[in-house]
Amino acid sequence: MRTIPIAAEACAEPTVLRERGQHEVFCGLTGIIWLHRKMQDAFFLIVGSRTCAHLMQSAAGVMIFAEPRFGTAIIGERDLAGLADAHEELDRVVGELLARRPQIRTLFLVGSCPSEVIKLDLGRAAQRQSQIRQGVRVLHYSGSGIETTFTQGEDACLKAMLPHLPQRSSPQRHVLVVGALADVVEDQMRALLAKMGVTEVDFFPPRHSASLPAVGPNTHFVLAQPFLSDTAQGLRAMGLRPIDSVFPLGVEGTTLWLKAIARAFGIGPEVVDEVTASARQRAQTALARQRARLEGKRLFFFPDSQLEIPLARFAQRELGMTLLEVGTPYLHKSLMAQELALLPPDVVLSEGQDVDRQLDRCLASAPDLVVCGLGLANPLEAQGVATKWSIELVFSPIQGYEQASDLAALLERPLNRRQRLAA
Ligand code: SF4
Repeated sequence: MRTIPIAAEACAEPTVLRERGQHEVFCGLTGIIWLHRKMQDAFFLIVGSRTCAHLMQSAAGVMIFAEPRFGTAIIGERDLAGLADAHEELDRVVGELLARRPQIRTLFLVGSCPSEVIKLDLGRAAQRQSQIRQGVRVLHYSGSGIETTFTQGEDACLKAMLPHLPQRSSPQRHVLVVGALADVVEDQMRALLAKMGVTEVDFFPPRHSASLPAVGPNTHFVLAQPFLSDTAQGLRAMGLRPIDSVFPLGVEGTTLWLKAIARAFGIGPEVVDEVTASARQRAQTALARQRARLEGKRLFFFPDSQLEIPLARFAQRELGMTLLEVGTPYLHKSLMAQELALLPPDVVLSEGQDVDRQLDRCLASAPDLVVCGLGLANPLEAQGVATKWSIELVFSPIQGYEQASDLAALLERPLNRRQRLAA
């Protein structure tokens, strides 16, 4: 099934196929995997069941880490006798954890689906723990699969930190870059922004949760990740000024993102062009080789990470790939407005999922490459379709000029593997 593209001259907005059926996505707990690596002094305590513990172990199994800074307080059947038991159990686990790990500065209690956990008031528990544990900020958010898909876990985590951002009194303009990025990407962005003349820059979440960035009336914020709508709304409500932009994926996306920041600071686009010239040149040279191999390849996105629309824009405009369907779990039209304007007018967009119907559409469209969740990758590979796990695109440093070619390589690799298998 294809949605019927509306006439391009009538309106630039593409038609969206909305589906509400069975869907296959991770829950918000998954975000802990990259958040715990980002904030080195934070710990994520999942208040959940054995299922949650297993999910984290298997999802984290794709990562290499020395000492994980997350764990699970199992609130199971034995606590059904009463909520008081569950609170006591939580107190005990938190006490033991903080005694063992005195370097923890922020402890996130992360809620999950089991009914025993839903009945617990984690807000009250966090408040109580904050009062009794000296020098540790205890916050809470939900990573439950009922309320969140995997990247929404980061949105909920960042939103939980907003009330704790200190007040900034400096009269100088300041920009807050919002969304967890690999340190190497942050360093590159900071260097480029400084060359443009934007020196008052903070990243959120920070590398150290104990030093949250201060914000004030002269703070602008720009999203570096597209799945942070609640955090963006919270920042707006605090009086911060949003910078609307596409997301910094690919050469074009990164340039437009930097130019949007420049505009907010009264810096001309020619300054960005000058400052970024050599990085753009390098990235474009690398991409040209990859484009030669990827051009015309047919690409299908299942809804998973909310990165799908910016990824599709990069794949289509910078790699020449053909978009068959771009699925996204949620479509925030205002956050995505500039991205959508860069997609072809007849693009097939879908929001939500009815997985069987989407699988039928996918197979009927004969894709060369499918970007999807782990659960769909195996069945599709078994049918001879090359797949890329969308979770890998969230874990990997893909933003900015230096990473544009790495992003293209992530899309190219499954196709190369299929070709080798077929040879
Ligand atoms: S979906 Fe619910 S029960 Fe399953 S791992 Fe996520 S939070 Fe735990």
